[in-house]
Amino acid sequence: MSQYHQAPPLPARRRFLALAGLAALGIAWPGAPGSAWAGPVTRRAIEPDTPEAALQMLMEGNARFAAGQLTTPHRSLDRLNEVAAAQHPFAAVLSCADSRVPVELLFDQGFGDLFVVRNAGNVVTPEEIASLEFGALVLGAKVLMVLGHSQCGAVKAAIAGDAVPGQISTLFQHIQPAVDAAGPDIGAVVEANVQHQAHLLERASPVLATLVRERRLLVVGGVYDLGSRRVKQVSS
Ligand SMILES: [Zn+2]
Repeated sequence: MSQYHQAPPLPARRRFLALAGLAALGIAWPGAPGSAWAGPVTRRAIEPDTPEAALQMLMEGNARFAAGQLTTPHRSLDRLNEVAAAQHPFAAVLSCADSRVPVELLFDQGFGDLFVVRNAGNVVTPEEIASLEFGALVLGAKVLMVLGHSQCGAVKAAIAGDAVPGQISTLFQHIQPAVDAAGPDIGAVVEANVQHQAHLLERASPVLATLVRERRLLVVGGVYDLGSRRVKQVSS
């Protein structure tokens, strides 16, 4: 059974009547087309209180996204005002910067839910470690997911190893261990890279390792498939 509960949205007929009434008065409802605050105002009654519940909430959000059954939680002006005072994200994500991988959207989450660190190839560097330590230790994120994705351009480029302009090639050294372990198949390297970066996080950060040992944090890997819209968990 789920370790958290979701407040039910307004029944469709009540919502329609409320919207019709507001529209008659010329008032834009937060979820109305053209409104700056798109999406129904749903919010969770209870936040996850264990790493396992946090992972479940993340994966259930992606299942809703993949199925097209979005609840778009925490997108209201009330929520925005609430988290302006303090943030308590339940999850941290180290994701690729790819424009097709919008993290909050594909996990069906909203303001204040996810602490997201992104770069091309979702690679671990000292700055990423520092940011994720802040997200987990200071802000209290209970699950940390390293998120790769299918058709990753950074992984493709690292496999090809061709000359590239500017400083793009500085990314390759971080992805090379996965290329060595699983290349040249791109899907296999994406998965190996997620596993490698997740291991690296725990090895390089005593702060994160301690949180994991104390069972206050789960570090997991995931691969987002652009075609199915699903995140598959990757064992570490
Ligand atoms: Zn990518």
